[in-house]
Amino acid sequence: MTEPHALPQSLAVLGSTGSVGVQALDVAHRHRIPVRLLTGNRNVSLMEEQARAYLPHAVVMADPHAARDLAQRLLDTPVRVSGGTEAICDEIRAASADVTVNAILGEAGLMPTLAAVECGGRLALANKESLVIAGKIVKKRAREAGCEIIPVDSEHSAIYQCLRGGRPADVQRIWLTASGGPFFGYTPEQLAHVTLADTLAHPTWKMGRKITVDSATMMNKGFEIIEAVHLFGLSEDRIRVLVHRESIIHSAVEYIDTAVIAQMAVPDMRLCVAYALAAPDRIPGGCEPLDLCRVGKLTFAEPDTLAFPLLEEARAAIRCGGASPATLNAANESAVAAFLSGQIPFASIADIVCETRRTFADTAKTAATLPEILEQAAAARRYADSLIEKV
Ligand code: NDP
Repeated sequence: MTEPHALPQSLAVLGSTGSVGVQALDVAHRHRIPVRLLTGNRNVSLMEEQARAYLPHAVVMADPHAARDLAQRLLDTPVRVSGGTEAICDEIRAASADVTVNAILGEAGLMPTLAAVECGGRLALANKESLVIAGKIVKKRAREAGCEIIPVDSEHSAIYQCLRGGRPADVQRIWLTASGGPFFGYTPEQLAHVTLADTLAHPTWKMGRKITVDSATMMNKGFEIIEAVHLFGLSEDRIRVLVHRESIIHSAVEYIDTAVIAQMAVPDMRLCVAYALAAPDRIPGGCEPLDLCRVGKLTFAEPDTLAFPLLEEARAAIRCGGASPATLNAANESAVAAFLSGQIPFASIADIVCETRRTFADTAKTAATLPEILEQAAAARRYADSLIEKV
């Protein structure tokens, strides 16, 4: 008889009302994994639905108004409702779930990551910004607390899986694949005229709005280089980005004997969530099987770092060290929010992010503690906002 799969006995899903969060709950439902904690920000209607369906011990909305509204709606249930970022961290510790999935968007995910890490257990990490901002600190605290971080980001999940094919010391380099986004092959002149609707039309993945914009600028791939440096302990020059339009190969590991082990699947985040929940076991996530004959061909190209400068800017940030990646992220969060609200054109995102990161490079370099890093990030955010005002 085969052994049963090692499923978690309890789950916390942070950012459950978002694109990844909803897919994480779908996997939990499929395998009847009890959910102890759900968190969101403003989407009260969806959170009410989720709370009634999963009956967690606690639900937290980062936005206090949303929390008050939700508390009224859930009066007839035993679910405990609270509001604010500190409450999210408190409830993570109280839940102390076997697996905490962090699918919160942006810098707001950092303190919840640290709270989850403190609990030990397993952190299924989608919130790449936690590692971009404070990768060294997150990794150190995870080591100290005995917390295992399993990436949910599809590329890093793929690399994690490919690394099971050899010894870490025998890795030559990582191939990080990129779809290239909706504007692959565009010149800077063409990029000057793209609209919000063009930007949100991602060719292969359906994701939240912010990461969809990050994919179009290739900032997302830049963040993923930084994420990979922290997760896998390789320097940035051993991480090669490869444009692969079909998003079938999710990344690969090249070993010293020149063998390349790649992971392939139809693009679906539920595969990555399912793997992060059960690894090293494999459980179905409800994904469609891969039919390579239907895909027909797989293509590869070098990224265009002139048209998409944020890729190289991320490499510069990780080489600079300290709070430089955090200032890159802060400037990007401001610029993308301004683009999404129609304040600035697409092409200004890269200008604002590059100028902000470079302005702070010297002071950011020496930041080492969490308060120092967050202070630099806040200053970079203010500076980026001042640049946005001038566009
Ligand atoms: P979404 O925008 O779809 O969802 C974000 C989630 O975070 C929502 O639950 C939202 O709440 C919550 N949230 C937003 N702001 C805050 C805040 N200030 N405090 C607490 N919670 C907040 O994002 P995605 O699901 O697309 O992405 C989530 C993370 O996963 C990101 O870090 C992204 O880079 C990463 N990722 C996403 C992938 C994808 O396929 N979408 C793939 C790989 C990584 P509410 O909706 O209630 O306002």
